[in-house]
Amino acid sequence: MKVSSPQFKEKSVIALADPRLRQALGQSRKGFVNKRAELVGALPEFEQLRDEARDLKNHVLDNLDHYLERYEAAVTAAGGHVHWARDAEEARSIILNICQRVNAKTITKGKSMVSEEIGLNDALEAKGYTVVETDLGEYIIQLAHEPPSHIIAPAIHKTKEQVSELFEAAHGGPRKTTVAELVTEARLVLRDKYFQADVGITGGNFLVAETGSSIIVTNEGNGDLTQTLARVHIVTSGIERIVPTLEDVALFLRILARSATGQETETYTTLSTGPRRPHDLDGPEEYHVVLVDNGRTKMLGGKFQDMLRCIRCGACMNHCPVYGAIGGHAYGWVYPGPMGSVLTPLFVGLDATYDLPNACTLNGRCESVCPVRIPLPELLRELRHMQHQQGIRPQGERRALGAWRFVAERPGLYQFANRLAARVLKGLGGSTGRIASLPFAGAWTDSRDMPAPEGKTFLELWQARSKP
Ligand code: SF4
Repeated sequence: MKVSSPQFKEKSVIALADPRLRQALGQSRKGFVNKRAELVGALPEFEQLRDEARDLKNHVLDNLDHYLERYEAAVTAAGGHVHWARDAEEARSIILNICQRVNAKTITKGKSMVSEEIGLNDALEAKGYTVVETDLGEYIIQLAHEPPSHIIAPAIHKTKEQVSELFEAAHGGPRKTTVAELVTEARLVLRDKYFQADVGITGGNFLVAETGSSIIVTNEGNGDLTQTLARVHIVTSGIERIVPTLEDVALFLRILARSATGQETETYTTLSTGPRRPHDLDGPEEYHVVLVDNGRTKMLGGKFQDMLRCIRCGACMNHCPVYGAIGGHAYGWVYPGPMGSVLTPLFVGLDATYDLPNACTLNGRCESVCPVRIPLPELLRELRHMQHQQGIRPQGERRALGAWRFVAERPGLYQFANRLAARVLKGLGGSTGRIASLPFAGAWTDSRDMPAPEGKTFLELWQARSKP
């Protein structure tokens, strides 16, 4: 798996200095956050729905083998095929074999984070297939030869002007300047591709064990055309996306759209169950589901099982101040933001992703908006703990933590040290009350002054306030 998080800090510095990125991120995220707040506030039972969704997901994860077998039986009964992929390589190989067997040339794709996770596009293109992303955001980043920077808005880091430049370079002039013109142009270009496609690949927001259906939710309808017009439809999905019944899907649909884009419901909710039947007017001749494990079963029954509840809504990154400042590319892999900072180390390895669990202020906004109540800060803390135990964190930091622990376990000493630190820092602030440079903690003061404390600890101030 390609991961570039060893460059997390360097990439973050570059991102912070990019005014166009900040403009693009600021506008889009604010829209998501405000719309979500408005709709959630208008639905009194939203918190109860979150509880129900969490409990249902936990039930499915505790009985995953049962529901997966039930799902496979239902897909087979509907005339489809289920393929089990232990890892990314197996998943790519299964899909390549299908494409080769049906003599495919052009492949259209709806948005699928699992296909990003397994590096599918590169593998298909290396074998000479023409791959066309049909989700507008994915199409934009395909033209830009970039990975997605957000799980539901892959091109959130691009301004309208940048998209306009990309379209002019790819499609020829005249340059389109409004969003409506750009969308129309993309639609016209993509329409032909749907009809040329031999294979259509989509993700699966939900897989229904009861009926063997896969469900996608989109705002563009591109997923419908991708899966209906190609001769062969391949669904790529993680094994954790199972829900027991169609009725259960309704619960998740109510929280997904509100959390993701701040809509009551996405524009299109599309079910597909098996290939075209004799009386159907359209639909694929073959229907395949590739169920990808790729590290998920290792999370079952362990400290990180909660992460498998994720329904990929993106709310955690929309509300994360760190993601909001640096965007998604700095995280180095397909899953950015808080959920990516948990998932990437688990999928890719703690060593290669050292910075990710540490790129968090533990402010808790992500957990407060997660529709399935994943305790993201707690999981990030657990990853830090594992890094510490495995000796991955730097010696200096480990020693400093050891010293802090020694002091923190002795209340008298802790209060004395706090008082001393407050006085020393106040002294460093001098007459301006601002510290321009801190010994051993330069990162706090490299790009701004730190306000000096007022000279008293919280405990002292509290005691003074509590006095009659
Ligand atoms: S962790 Fe929660 S908020 Fe983040 S994408 Fe997953 S479900 Fe959404």
